Amino acid sequence: MGVLGVYGVTDAAARIYYGLHNLQHRGQEGGGIATFDEDGKYYRFRGLGLLNEIFTNGEVSRLKGQLGIGSVMYANASKGGLENVAPLFFHHRSGDFAVAADGNVINSRQIADYLEKRGTIFQTGTDSELLAHLVKKTAGEDRIVNIVKALNMMEGGFAIVIMTPNRIYACRDKHGIKPLCIGTLDGGYVVSSESCAFEIMGAQFLRDVRPGEIVSLDSHGLRSTLFSHYSRHRMCAMEYIYFARPDSDIDGCNVHAYRKEAGRRLYRECPAQADIVVGVPESSLSAAMGYSEESGIPYELGLVKHKYVGRTFIAPTQSMRELGVKMKLSPVRSIVSGKRIVLVDDSIVRGTTSLKIVKLLREAGATEVHVRIASPMMRFTCHYGVDTSTPEQLLCAHRTLEQAREAIGADSLGYLSPESTRDSCFGCADPCQACFTGEYPTLLYDDIMNENED
Ligand code: SF4
Repeated sequence: MGVLGVYGVTDAAARIYYGLHNLQHRGQEGGGIATFDEDGKYYRFRGLGLLNEIFTNGEVSRLKGQLGIGSVMYANASKGGLENVAPLFFHHRSGDFAVAADGNVINSRQIADYLEKRGTIFQTGTDSELLAHLVKKTAGEDRIVNIVKALNMMEGGFAIVIMTPNRIYACRDKHGIKPLCIGTLDGGYVVSSESCAFEIMGAQFLRDVRPGEIVSLDSHGLRSTLFSHYSRHRMCAMEYIYFARPDSDIDGCNVHAYRKEAGRRLYRECPAQADIVVGVPESSLSAAMGYSEESGIPYELGLVKHKYVGRTFIAPTQSMRELGVKMKLSPVRSIVSGKRIVLVDDSIVRGTTSLKIVKLLREAGATEVHVRIASPMMRFTCHYGVDTSTPEQLLCAHRTLEQAREAIGADSLGYLSPESTRDSCFGCADPCQACFTGEYPTLLYDDIMNENED
């Protein structure tokens, strides 16, 4: 998911709309924008699909006000549906408010049990609704105190924006697993999952929201409250490896620079004899450039991506993913024919894409295909909102390196080490790598432990 908030800016909804386009890579199954006008009147429009499929009829111009929040939704199969598309809106005698959240609260089942025993009835399966009920159930009249209490009950990786008629709260989980940053815009403020949204909005990057921090944006300006003093920063490594856009800076590290450094290290750890380096478009191109630079093997455009086809990894079902792979890439025959190729990819999740691409390159005349992956073997499920699927679906969960090579039909296969995955990152010293190593930065709750053992 991608979340965005704007405070103190004329035509907030239009700015959010443009900003969300630069977050579209974070979710393609739904999206929405909510605003409050100067009289505290609430506006919202949301829908399923891409932003340009949702906002087709001038809806953005009908969302009045100088503050608003928005989101793009990336749903796994169980959390789709319009009712789950953020922002969600809540009426309460203490004041109306709207919420949008990225990530996953891993103790959501325990919190839902706690709330249901106290009479709560849920309308969605979202963490946003969980937070809204917690904020209203916790004692105290001061909203920030209630938010602090609620966030301290929630474990996991999340970035949440909350909007009241006169304020926006931007909250980041205490481990800093999910990205969230702040910018300035025309005397007001913007918060966004990624800084790449700022450019198109005309905003300037200010800083990242700190792990465990709530940033309040209102007529007093920007104020900071720490809801947790937990200090081990565990930013998601997959954001750098795959998820984020290369023009984003996250926690002091540019995503493109990270990937290039990972590509350099990948060559040093897993060299290959080849004629050309080919990157899998588009998230692997930076790593392929790094591999090429370090090895001296020329970088070539051996694969072309068809535009307008969604990312296969975040399509919600296996059949849609397989169809997506067939539709999205073409080999450049005159470039790859008769060549030994180093194919650099950012990661292998299910292996669907890798198997297909190796086959495409061989059919186009490649004599050898050596696959190099700019991240470690993915063996474990992510519990923080990235749909890496169950262990049974992961290519490497129960395979050796040789078995994985055989499964994708490559001549050789090499992965970056967890140490280099960590050291490619200039900002976060110790990113989460749980889907590679199984070392989760948070507690895992009983139901999750049982899932892992299945
Ligand atoms: S488990 Fe993997 S995908 Fe999930 S937060 Fe950690 S690094 Fe990111």
